[in-house]
Amino acid sequence: MRDTSKHQGLRNQLAKVLLAKGIVDENVLNAVRKIPRHLFIDSSFESHAYQDKAFPIAADQTISMPYTVAFQSQTLEVKNGDKILEIGTGSGYQTAVLLELKAEVYSIERQHELFKKTSLFLPKLGYKPKKFIFGDGYKGLPEQAPFDKIIVTAGAPYVPKPLLAQLKVGGMLLIPVGDKTQIMTLFIRKSAKEFEKQELGDFAFVPMLEERN
Ligand code: SAH
Repeated sequence: MRDTSKHQGLRNQLAKVLLAKGIVDENVLNAVRKIPRHLFIDSSFESHAYQDKAFPIAADQTISMPYTVAFQSQTLEVKNGDKILEIGTGSGYQTAVLLELKAEVYSIERQHELFKKTSLFLPKLGYKPKKFIFGDGYKGLPEQAPFDKIIVTAGAPYVPKPLLAQLKVGGMLLIPVGDKTQIMTLFIRKSAKEFEKQELGDFAFVPMLEERN
C-alpha cells in the first residue's frame, strides 16, 4: 500500500472532523494529518481508514476511533520528552501519535500476534518507541517506572494499583474504566499518597484482558 495525495486529503478532512468534535490541540491535529492510518488496518478497509470509526485488526482487536485516540492524546497534554507507558499497543496508531508528540514511549501488548506484527511494522514507518513489551498491562512496567503519563487503551474493569504506583508526582494516568462501556478517567498524582480524579465522559473499548498470575 502507498500513501498518496488522496490519502493526504482524507487526513486533512479527518482533522477537520476532529476539530469540530473538540480536538483543539494543534500538535495532535498535525499528528492526525501526518500519520498514514490506512497502513495500520487491513487493506480491505482502506477506504474507511479516514472516517472517524474503529476497525477490526488482528487477534479480534480493534484500532480505536481517531476521535478517541485524539481525545486521549490531547487530555494527556503530552510534552517533548515525556516518558509514557502505553497499555495496549494494538495496531500501533496511538503509539505513532505519541511519538509524533515527541514522547518517549514504552508500549505493552498482551497478545503475541499483535505484539509481533506491530513491533515489526511501526519501525518500518519510522516510528521507534523506546521499547515494545510483550506482557501484562495490569502490572505496568516497574523496571522503567516512574512515568510522566500512563495511557490505557483497553476497557479496564477496575483501576490497577500498580499503574497508580508507577506515576511520578505530577504525573497522569488516563484509563477507561468499566465493563460494557467505560468512563474515561484521569488520575493526577498530587503527592506520594494523593490522587485527583476526573471523569471525562463515556467511551467504548475492547476489554482489557484478565490479569495473569
Ligand atoms: N491503541 C490501540 C488500541 C487497540 S485495542 C489502537 O488504536 O490500535 C486494545 C489493545 O489492548 C488490544 O491490542 C489488546 O490486545 C490489548 N490488551 C488487552 N488487554 C491487555 C493487557 N492486560 N495488557 C496489555 N495489552 C492488553
